[in-house]
Amino acid sequence: MTISETRLARIDVMKPWLGEEETQAVAEVIASGWVAQGPKVRQFEDAFAAEQQADFAIATSSCTSALHLALAVAGVGPGDDVVVPSFSFIATANAATYVGARPVFADVDMHTGCVTAATIKAALTPATTAVIAVDQGGVPVDLEPIRALCDPLGIIVVEDAACAIGSRYRGRPVGSNAELAAWSFHPRKILTTGEGGMITTPRQEYGDRARRLREHAMSVSAADRHASLLAPAEEYLEVGFNYRMTDLQAAVGLVQLGRLQAVVQRRRQLAATYANAFAGVEGLRLVSDPHYGISNFQSCWLEIGPAFPLGREALLTRLAGDGISARRGIMAAHRQPAYSGADTGSAELGVTEWLSDHTLILPLYHELSLQDQVRVIDSVLRAAGQP
Ligand SMILES: *Cc1c(COP(=O)(O)O)cnc(C)c1O
Repeated sequence: MTISETRLARIDVMKPWLGEEETQAVAEVIASGWVAQGPKVRQFEDAFAAEQQADFAIATSSCTSALHLALAVAGVGPGDDVVVPSFSFIATANAATYVGARPVFADVDMHTGCVTAATIKAALTPATTAVIAVDQGGVPVDLEPIRALCDPLGIIVVEDAACAIGSRYRGRPVGSNAELAAWSFHPRKILTTGEGGMITTPRQEYGDRARRLREHAMSVSAADRHASLLAPAEEYLEVGFNYRMTDLQAAVGLVQLGRLQAVVQRRRQLAATYANAFAGVEGLRLVSDPHYGISNFQSCWLEIGPAFPLGREALLTRLAGDGISARRGIMAAHRQPAYSGADTGSAELGVTEWLSDHTLILPLYHELSLQDQVRVIDSVLRAAGQP
């Protein structure tokens, strides 16, 4: 490569880590003749439950469908309010809307980007029956005080751990302290199955109902019917959904799960390199571990404060000019057309708006080379006026 080609080579914000093993695993499923939800999905669920220290794990088509099912099995419905962060991918708020409830937006903590017991308390209404607490960008949410607030009020706390596979809260995997947790295997997250999700729960009745609802609430699963020669008659016990994962996806997920420790270790190492590089730069703040847990740095966001010579948009443009694809920080759902006109309660969302306007997400993925990371760092430091 010539020097000019090196300069032009694009650096992406995110790239999944996939290899030969995934290809092989998919080929085996195809050769088996059973590609829909079946034995691989069950294996993936068991392996995921073991990894996350969960009692029950139910694979789904996405984290969005997992969140929908989580609220459904918790009995949340029309007339209920569900407190959610606005500072999250829009699927968090949409899950409440899907079950006919009203999302009520809560603000987040400036340091973590996550809801806290205090921000949730400010958003509670007499109709609140559920809270969705998000491990935003992989930073673990401080769940214990939130449960201490909500449990006595009979408010169920669902953890949206879409971004947080491999993050830890008080020494345990995130999600293992929640009544219901939802996970994502979208390529933008930590491990991928193309599309895919999971619900984990310590409560068997939630697990059983989620398992049924993901498959049209059939009394006998398609895989079980297929396994017997004389298929037993099935009944449809309630109105369910098709939220199944396929065995093709689960086979990929099983391989990906084996990569988890390496992925998290690498991401934390890359984040530490960014943190060191930007530590002395006025006006910059990189997201960091909270005192109570460990992040997988799914979104390694950088806050561009007033002391920095460029604003966020100008810095993004500067980075793009250097062939670096950074991204605007996490969105604010209450500003989207889907919710801007809606009645969503009236909590103050000042931190949400500040972070949404002043953060960008830096390139960070397993195979990001040191050389490319140095290019990102140099580009930011040049923008800061440092040689
Ligand atoms: C990505 C994401 C989702 C949605 O995940 P999908 O698997 O794409 O449906 C939900 N919540 C949060 C916080 C996310 O980041």
